[in-house]
Amino acid sequence: MIPCPHCGSPHTRPGTQARTTGMVLGGMTGAAFVVLRIIGRSSPVLASALWVGGLIGLAWGGQAGYVLGAKIDQTFPRSRCCDCGKDFVH
Ligand SMILES: [Zn+2]
Repeated sequence: MIPCPHCGSPHTRPGTQARTTGMVLGGMTGAAFVVLRIIGRSSPVLASALWVGGLIGLAWGGQAGYVLGAKIDQTFPRSRCCDCGKDFVH
């Protein structure tokens, strides 16, 4: 376990994971991207096409965001102190 650099407490746990954030942000971006492309290309727009496109974009963007976030996690491993609540890179 890595001691907290702020207060020296040994009570730390893995902090905010970039891969989780990346998956959420990537998924939303991917879904928005695909939906906008469908809207821009076809008229009238089928609701079912938007749903399917949105889901595909969500899976695709989420995957890309997860891979990118995992790289960030590897480069900058983060932990959070359970006593003072601060995040730190170690
Ligand atoms: Zn601390």
